[in-house]
Amino acid sequence: MEKKEHKLSLVGLGPGNIDNLTLKAFNTLKDSDVIIGYASYIKLLKEIPELDGKNIIAFPMKTEEERCLTALELAKDADVCLVSSGDTGIYGLASLVLEIIDEENLNIELHIVPGITAAIACSSLVGAPLANDFCCINLSDQLTDFEIIKKRLEGAIEGDFVITLYNPSSKDRYEQFEDIIHLLIEKLGNNIPIAVVKNAYRENQETYPLLLKDLQPDEIDMNSLIIIGNSQTVINENNENVYTKRGYK
Ligand code: SAH
Repeated sequence: MEKKEHKLSLVGLGPGNIDNLTLKAFNTLKDSDVIIGYASYIKLLKEIPELDGKNIIAFPMKTEEERCLTALELAKDADVCLVSSGDTGIYGLASLVLEIIDEENLNIELHIVPGITAAIACSSLVGAPLANDFCCINLSDQLTDFEIIKKRLEGAIEGDFVITLYNPSSKDRYEQFEDIIHLLIEKLGNNIPIAVVKNAYRENQETYPLLLKDLQPDEIDMNSLIIIGNSQTVINENNENVYTKRGYK
């Protein structure tokens, strides 16, 4: 068999604590020579004694392409892990790496190691809101036009999906987030159960079920995920958890 030039693993780290790192992700990191990622994800890795002494390269925000190119370059001579939070295929770097490999026709041994994405991690903390059909929508307009984001949201509402909102708000998109809340209230009404989860499985974790009308936009940030219920979603009597009925009689 032709020898591959590079070996690169794209590793999903899960929501942010060691317990939610899969065994496969852990072993892949342990067996690598170099680990590359965004600075705040790299922090988690510093807590893992088995990774002591590894060449860990932290990049600042908004260096996605540079991170991929560096990983591909270093993978010529080493086993490299490029890490993303959650799953690397969900708003992570996996598709950009595949695009570059395609465009540059690179001969590479590529491994994609799945991780627990934020929707799954956050759902587990508030009950079972994703028990039936659901979708993920990323509210960041950095790579997707805001009009398209709204169109997708309207489609998901029309289809009665439970909706997880990734990247819901940031300081420079505050007004857009208010627009989104108005759209949700207009289409779903005030009393749809939702859940807000901040920093799931990390320091300063917060979780709370509430009704759409009680959502406070200024409490939502980039470390939050919002789960919008559908017509079958309820909050339990003690206001402790939120779940979507599947229709069992
Ligand atoms: N690849 C990641 C998503 C990256 S997009 C994954 O699969 O989870 C980043 C967004 O994910 C954040 O803005 C937030 O909405 C959500 N997110 C990621 N980790 C989270 C966590 N621990 N708690 C709450 N939301 C989280």
